[in-house]
Amino acid sequence: MDFSLTDAQRALQQDLRAFAAREVAPTAAARDEDERFDPTIFRAIGAAGFAGLPFPGQYGGAGGDAVSSALATEELSRVCAATGIMLSTHVSLVAWPVFRFGTDEQKRAFLAPLASGEKLGAYGLSEPDSGGDDAGIQTTAVRRGDDYLLQGAKVFSINGGEADIYVVYAATDPTQRSRGMTAFILEKGMPGLRFGKTERKMGVRSAVAAELVFEDCVVPAANRLGAEGEGLKIALAALDGGRTGIAALAVGIAQGALEEALAHARGRTHFNRPLLDFQTTQFKLADMQTEIEAARLLTRRAAWLEARAAPYTRASAMAKVMASDVAMRVTTEAVQILGGYGYMRDRPVERMMRDAKITQIYGGTNEVQRMVIARHVLAE
Ligand SMILES: Cc1cc2nc3c(=O)[nH]c(=O)nc-3n(C[C@H](O)[C@H](O)[C@H](O)COP(=O)(O)OP(=O)(O)OC[C@H]3O[C@@H](n4cnc5c(N)ncnc54)[C@H](O)[C@@H]3O)c2cc1C
Repeated sequence: MDFSLTDAQRALQQDLRAFAAREVAPTAAARDEDERFDPTIFRAIGAAGFAGLPFPGQYGGAGGDAVSSALATEELSRVCAATGIMLSTHVSLVAWPVFRFGTDEQKRAFLAPLASGEKLGAYGLSEPDSGGDDAGIQTTAVRRGDDYLLQGAKVFSINGGEADIYVVYAATDPTQRSRGMTAFILEKGMPGLRFGKTERKMGVRSAVAAELVFEDCVVPAANRLGAEGEGLKIALAALDGGRTGIAALAVGIAQGALEEALAHARGRTHFNRPLLDFQTTQFKLADMQTEIEAARLLTRRAAWLEARAAPYTRASAMAKVMASDVAMRVTTEAVQILGGYGYMRDRPVERMMRDAKITQIYGGTNEVQRMVIARHVLAE
């Protein structure tokens, strides 16, 4: 297996790095401090052609694949995890299910504006009483002629309220649990769709996470994604790719934290020697970079398998668990290398340590991922 980047992927990586440094990094700390979502960043991502990297040109995408998408999430998250989670949610959990399961008409109506960056996407699966247990959702969708009427609420929806297009899961037959769930495409402004509480979060504070509320929300039957009862299958497929995105998010955060720690250790002196001269610091940095590269390889493997249409459920779960645990360890160690300065809010490692935590929770907790991996291991 060769996970080295092609020339085109390397060029894309350089473009993404320059874009992140120019358009995202300068305001990352202030947006986090103010807990402020900035829509101009998504517009800039769209204008640069990064909003639909893995989708074909005929639907507004850039004709890349899951590897390009992972590169984008990693490079943006290296300077701002909130921007990384905003984009990876938009691509993996909104645009991708429309691409994979939508009709041609749905792709033209919804995927094209998502992939071109004209419209931002969000998804709603988690509910107040169901997160890990996705099949236990309480939101219902009842067919009324040419429409469905949705009732219920979703929590923690990244991009919620700011997004134009929503992929939402509801029970069309609650007695069937996992086989009674159906996916729908909703648009902002549909009658009966409103936005409730916006969460105040520990990290990724300049990404918005909001409640979606459906009160007799009228959704045309033409907006049903897939068949009735296919919702869980669609959600699980989207979450497989979503986990590779979260792994890339974690690798980016960890790499950014390592670079901050390295710069600090180079400039800070003790006993007239730079901190970097001490072997304790060097060993910390060596372990950090080794773990990051191991996590990056697992992430690239999951993306590479997806790009080749090979099974990747096990690979993306492994990448997500490994990379998120690495991000937590590396950011904690980066704070340690900066000492008291690392604990202060005017240094980015403090933000990075808070941001890393979400990667162990979002898209299915690491405990749930370990259950998925164990199921595969036991079956082998
Ligand atoms: C910032 C943020 C953004 C999010 N964005 C979105 C979004 O855009 N759209 C969306 O739909 N959701 C979103 N989520 C929801 C997220 O995916 C869930 O929070 C996550 O899947 C965990 O579900 P939960 O919060 O209900 O926790 P629970 O499932 O209640 O888990 C609580 C604890 O129990 C453990 N646990 C759960 N089940 C088992 C089990 N079977 N065996 C052993 N242990 C178990 C978990 O590992 C965890 O430690 C977001 C969450 C956050 C925090």
